[in-house]
Amino acid sequence: MSTEIAQLLDVIDQNQNFLVVSHIHPDGDAVGSTLSMGLVLQALGKDVTFFNVHPVPYNFQFLPGATEWTNSVANKPEVTIVLDCGEPGRVGESFPAEGWGDTICVVDHHKTWDSEFADVYVRDVDAAATGELVFKIARELGVMNADIAQNIYCCLLTDTGSFRYSNTSRATFTIAGELVDEGVDPWWMTSNIYESNPKERIEMLSKVLSTLELSPCGRLAFLRIDQDMVEGKDLEIVDGFINYARSIRGVEVATQLLEQPGAWKISFRSRGNVDVSELAQRFGGGGHRNAAGCTIQASSQSVVSQLSDALVEMLDKS
Ligand code: 5GP
Ligand code: MN
Repeated sequence: MSTEIAQLLDVIDQNQNFLVVSHIHPDGDAVGSTLSMGLVLQALGKDVTFFNVHPVPYNFQFLPGATEWTNSVANKPEVTIVLDCGEPGRVGESFPAEGWGDTICVVDHHKTWDSEFADVYVRDVDAAATGELVFKIARELGVMNADIAQNIYCCLLTDTGSFRYSNTSRATFTIAGELVDEGVDPWWMTSNIYESNPKERIEMLSKVLSTLELSPCGRLAFLRIDQDMVEGKDLEIVDGFINYARSIRGVEVATQLLEQPGAWKISFRSRGNVDVSELAQRFGGGGHRNAAGCTIQASSQSVVSQLSDALVEMLDKS
């Protein structure tokens, strides 16, 4: 057992009230790791608040524990466990002060992180998903059941792009196999997560793809989503669209601009040598080598030109 996991187990052993939380606009790994960690704690008899400033996206609401998800803190926890997120700001500006316990633990696999805010860090950038780390923690605690397994499987499935991305390893398949042994039905997971699209999402996909532009060299792709396209809609409606831009032959970095009031939320996806977390960090964001994001306050032309310059420089060096 790693020292970090041993430290987390001590904290779990010595406390009763926990709050589990992840980053804003939670994705499959954020939801699955929050719910699985919370369910592990509940199985140990602990009191748990499953918190996020944003609701569970429609395609993850079937997950066990999802109905306990809340955006209010009734009891100040003794311990806050931050999952799939290594920076305090990423839990959201509206995260309430009483949500922070006296002890803060991070369980995360992002490359970018803040080493100052937590007491215990269980971090592994080589883990395909934060769910892999929850799996290790659960195994050390001797706690596993079909509900926990479904949530961890969700983490693996979504963060590896259905076991397709370069983060998919032997360990990922081994853990997935063990989760199937615990009662996970892969098709049930896929059909809920990926094949329950509202018709509106597919209509939106066609609109967003019509904004696709490639750089003259063909190595960069851009998608742009203006505010009026997503007015009044939850942002999960466009989740994953950027992967179509990266899937084009010759494209090494795909960038999506999503307009928000007064700013652009930028997503990057890369393959090959470009580390987009470095680029995102230059603009105050972060993430992983092949998937990262940031928010930029500037006009769309200025955003595209700043990013194109930086990306061309990175491509030249790669
Ligand atoms: P997405 O493009 O799906 O929003 O995010 C891709 C990856 O980058 C995710 O792992 C996400 O947590 C991370 N990410 C996105 N935006 C930001 C940001 O503004 N700051 C940081 N630190 N990470 C981000
Ligand atoms: Mn993740």
